[in-house]
Amino acid sequence: APRDAEAPRSWMPQPAAAAPAGDDVAAMRAAILAKLAYALGKTPATARDRDWFAATALALRDRAVAAGAASAGTVPHKRVHYLSLEFLIGRLLSDAMGNLGVAETVRAALAGLDVDLDAVAGAEPDAALGNGGLGRLAACFMESMASLAIPAYGYGIRYDHGLFRQVIEDGVQREVPETWLAEGNPWEFERAEAACEVGFGGDVAMSVQPDGTLRRVWRPAEIVRAVPYDTPVIGRGAKHVNALRLWAARAVEPVDLARFNAGDHVGAVAERARAEAISRVLYPSDGTPAGQELRLRQEFFFTSASLQDLVRRHVAERGDLRSLPDHAAIQLNDTHPAIAVPELMRLLVDGHGLSWEDAWHVTTQTLGYTNHTLMPEALETWPVELMERLLPRHMQIIYLINWMHLEEVSRHGASPEQLAEVSLIDESHGKRVRMGHLAFLGARRVNGVSALHTELMRQTVFAPLHALDTDKIVNKTNGITFRRWLHNANPGLTRLAVDALGAKVLDDPRHLEGLAALADDAGFQERYAAVRRERKEALARVVEDRTGITLDPEALFDVQIKRIHEYKRQLLNILETVALYQAIKAEPHRDWTPRVKLFAGKAAPSYHQAKLIIRLASDVAKRVNADPDVAGRLTVAFVPNYSVSLAESIIPAADLSEQISTAGLEASGTGNMKLALNGALTVGTLDGANIEIKDHVGPENIFIFGLDAAGVQRVQAEPGYASRAIAASPRLRAALDMIAAGGFSAGEPGRFRPLVDELTRSDRFLLTADFDDYWRAQREIDAAWRRPRAWWRAAILNTARTAWFSSDRTMREYAEEIWRVRVG
Ligand code: PLP
Repeated sequence: APRDAEAPRSWMPQPAAAAPAGDDVAAMRAAILAKLAYALGKTPATARDRDWFAATALALRDRAVAAGAASAGTVPHKRVHYLSLEFLIGRLLSDAMGNLGVAETVRAALAGLDVDLDAVAGAEPDAALGNGGLGRLAACFMESMASLAIPAYGYGIRYDHGLFRQVIEDGVQREVPETWLAEGNPWEFERAEAACEVGFGGDVAMSVQPDGTLRRVWRPAEIVRAVPYDTPVIGRGAKHVNALRLWAARAVEPVDLARFNAGDHVGAVAERARAEAISRVLYPSDGTPAGQELRLRQEFFFTSASLQDLVRRHVAERGDLRSLPDHAAIQLNDTHPAIAVPELMRLLVDGHGLSWEDAWHVTTQTLGYTNHTLMPEALETWPVELMERLLPRHMQIIYLINWMHLEEVSRHGASPEQLAEVSLIDESHGKRVRMGHLAFLGARRVNGVSALHTELMRQTVFAPLHALDTDKIVNKTNGITFRRWLHNANPGLTRLAVDALGAKVLDDPRHLEGLAALADDAGFQERYAAVRRERKEALARVVEDRTGITLDPEALFDVQIKRIHEYKRQLLNILETVALYQAIKAEPHRDWTPRVKLFAGKAAPSYHQAKLIIRLASDVAKRVNADPDVAGRLTVAFVPNYSVSLAESIIPAADLSEQISTAGLEASGTGNMKLALNGALTVGTLDGANIEIKDHVGPENIFIFGLDAAGVQRVQAEPGYASRAIAASPRLRAALDMIAAGGFSAGEPGRFRPLVDELTRSDRFLLTADFDDYWRAQREIDAAWRRPRAWWRAAILNTARTAWFSSDRTMREYAEEIWRVRVG
């Protein structure tokens, strides 16, 4: 992987760490040198940064194994199994050093060899096995579970190629395959001996059991081997270590020797290519229908392998599968693993001879389901025809679950319309299996990811199912791990907090509340601002390096960093940028608040509108940055290849966090929490977790604008609102006109027609309705920036009051209410 693929963060020592003892440093240095020599076959003279990284990671992995060995022999009473098609991990080195408590030791050990830890850390490729928030959440949860000593396995897919690398050429996104495994992965252990087999296709037969009973037997037409790779997940202080178990797909027969010997060298490995395609690439979640079948194969592959794995472990440890719910909780991260419902039933009934009733009890007491979206186009459904072809036995089980479910509902006198709504089969346009409904029925608890989102689940998509069991839906507002997103990403701010409040803030973020008492302290404000300033300078170097655009660290850094999606409304931000550009041009001598607008994020490869939004941001940047009239007042940059590592360098440098989705559409957001924790003030709608952030930081320390979720529903019901809103806002009209007239695409005035047309004709995401209030909020922010005492006070209060958004809190809540598992 190219060294510049991810911005090397200016990595700084862990806060409050005592100087490492000389013996420890010497031992660490010896361990690293031994790995370099004996595992990598290199000498210090020939080692590149990447080799030093591998040697250091291997030395730390040894320590993780040693730390885990303490508990390895004991069987925990109950384990959590977190099934997720995505784990957006990023780099692991600073995580591992921090949680092992050896950051200073490693730095000193490498320094003694004339090796710079920052360069070594920068050589680690990001493990980008996820698209965005959902996958990053899974990674934060894994870290928090380990830190809380909740015994857990994470289960997912070991993609050869994670999320694509984004290259921007003339404003156009090009996707380049990402190659995180090109030089191996020092963190993982291959466990070939624990492989299992996953079937596809074929038919279902009957078999007579020795006791005379009949069982159904699935006879798959195709078998794929699932090989697990384990990465240790080290908890804080290395008191507990869990495993992230990722499955790689392998062919049962690596080569068809007969064909090979007959000279068909390519055909001889066709089966292998087909099998291995399952774990080849991360599927971009918001893409086209193309590749649907591969996606279903991925989902079933990792779900089946994971369930087989945990069932086998349970049988080995406890014998009887009827006690599974006492010892295992299985969490489905979105509907991607929802096929777990019929697969667990199949394993229990067909595989282990449980009665249907017992198996259903076990299943519905073991599974939990987390919903992540209510947007109709994102709710997963699968054509019945495809399911019958690929998973014939599962389709039978789904029909039976559905039949029993509809019988039960009918007994309560449901109408045909009501039955159609709660059925697992959607028959409105072809027959399709509703995976959300399936997960809902199979789970003991179903959770939303913020208070608003959970309430909307009850009121909208899941209302008919909720009415049948009003205890099932619970809220678990998302969280973020502070170890990565504060301690490691922002050591300067962490040190400031430790100096002010003591090392206890590292153990329990609730102590950060103590910073509130210092919010008005001029000296503390100065130190807080100095930390920000340093990070802004560092970020400016990264942005200059990647884009050639020079940023002034004096300016207000306004950032919108997340997947590019119409509902997240980067376009609203760009429209405001254009309007601001026009306003500055109209009154160049006014005392404008200097602003840097930063955008970063990837668009799904087939999502044309999103790619056009990237192009518009880049084109606006090109014109604005070249215009001497606005120089020093407005700078715009689109930073390519957003990733966890880039997030770690942008977030501590942000003054303003853009969280401007159409109310009701962002389930939670977690970027919003990371930015607020690091002291960026939020400009946002009353959407997702923004609402709870406002409740915690106080309404005077956040900039709220626009329609709320109820308002959105009201306006959407009024036909023609977009044209009326545009007619009523001269500022919006002027911005749109400039874009439509080719103001940012000289020579190709029609370039942004699809964006302008969508806004003027339908405006699904109500940009036009919120524009004026957004403009108002932004000017309020301009004014607030000019009162530094008040600004830094608000920033400090954001840091002080966001402790509740720690994923430790979230995991404690899951443990208690959903998993019923002990913490610690
Ligand atoms: N992508 C990456 C790389 C992230 O680090 C995050 C969150 O920090 C997200 C996506 C999710 O961002 P948001 O919650 O703003 O959608």
